[in-house]
Amino acid sequence: MNVAALLAQIRSTWMSHISHQLARGAGVRESFLPQLNQFYDALVQSVESGDPAWMDPILKDWAQARTQTELSVHEASLYPILSQILQTTYFILRESLAADQALEALGALLPVFAYAYEQVARQEMQVRVAHVQRELEFAQTALERLDKSKSDFISVAAHELKTPLTLIEGYATMLRDLFPKDDHQSQAVVLLKGVDNGTRRLREIVDDMIDVSMIDNNLLKLNFQPLWINRLLRTLEEEMRGILSQRKLTLTIKEFPGSDEMTFGDPERIFQALRNLLTNAIKYTPDGGSITVDGRKLPGFIEITVSDTGIGIDPENHTRIFEKFGQIGNVSLHSSGKTKFKGGGPGLGLPITKGLIEAHGGTIWVESEAHDEERCPGSTFHVMLPIRKSPPDEEIAKIFTPLTNGHQT
Ligand code: ADP
Repeated sequence: MNVAALLAQIRSTWMSHISHQLARGAGVRESFLPQLNQFYDALVQSVESGDPAWMDPILKDWAQARTQTELSVHEASLYPILSQILQTTYFILRESLAADQALEALGALLPVFAYAYEQVARQEMQVRVAHVQRELEFAQTALERLDKSKSDFISVAAHELKTPLTLIEGYATMLRDLFPKDDHQSQAVVLLKGVDNGTRRLREIVDDMIDVSMIDNNLLKLNFQPLWINRLLRTLEEEMRGILSQRKLTLTIKEFPGSDEMTFGDPERIFQALRNLLTNAIKYTPDGGSITVDGRKLPGFIEITVSDTGIGIDPENHTRIFEKFGQIGNVSLHSSGKTKFKGGGPGLGLPITKGLIEAHGGTIWVESEAHDEERCPGSTFHVMLPIRKSPPDEEIAKIFTPLTNGHQT
């Protein structure tokens, strides 16, 4: 008797055993029976033809029928089901056929099952990969939506705050004008100075919010002009002198190769970026610490480093701090002081700095061993700026032709 005939002989026993084992409950069993019949037909055809590919359609159906829930909780694969079918088949062959016939049938069935295992593994992997890919796409869309709402919120809030702020600034100036210029003592003048400080800080925050939304929406316009990094740093040093001595911090600005070379960029924006880095270095370094600005010239680039002896940043936050609202400290400890030790701001400084540097075709990153307020391992921010010998706009290039022919420092 050939194997196909042997399989036909045990078909009904096989069907009833397997359906009882795999599908508990009469209702489930009934709906499962057509699939088991299809499986058995494929098994017989594979054995008859010697081509196990007959198994493909049913295995594919089974692999794809796995529900979303099963995939998300990483439930066991079809492997255990196939194993159970094989075990039961082996048991039925042994019980229902003579030993030599059982052996012959098993010999024909085993390669088909081996093929089925391989197919199940492959198909399940494909289904799982597709599932993970879909999940990733969902997460990506959700993140993009969140980022867009953050960006929209910043833009709307900045513009809503701008109008009343301008009013307060205007009225405060008019009020101040009611007093003589040399009056610095009267109570109203002192109070008005407080209002002035508050509105100035608020203006800085609103300006930061507008910058962030311009960067996010690719609306940032750079005003390319010749600039010299060492000159920008000298101006910055002047600006920071007062606050550095208040905080008893030492600032060393080194003259490094390339810092005295002319390059094209938006001096105001590069100054703003460097100021943000220096302000952070001041903010996150305890009194008595030191800050060093150094750099080097690389082929086509100038690298500027701002190092401090401050509290440092854990490596897992090295990327996050460049994201909007990416402060990593305790938000409840926020202080409104721009240079006070650990006086966290709104968390827009570094995203703006990154946006400004990238708009120039540069990059920025941080190196820091860890965040440790006792040991203060410090941080080093690296900025790479491309050296441009001419501005991107040809019309502007013409204005600066005399300068670009003979570089000045
Ligand atoms: P913030 O307004 O909070 O200063 P930033 O975008 O400038 O926002 O910085 C984001 C976060 O990065 C800060 O809250 C701080 O935790 C961390 N950070 C930035 N610069 C430094 C630094 N030099 N040393 C330690 N931490 C820093």
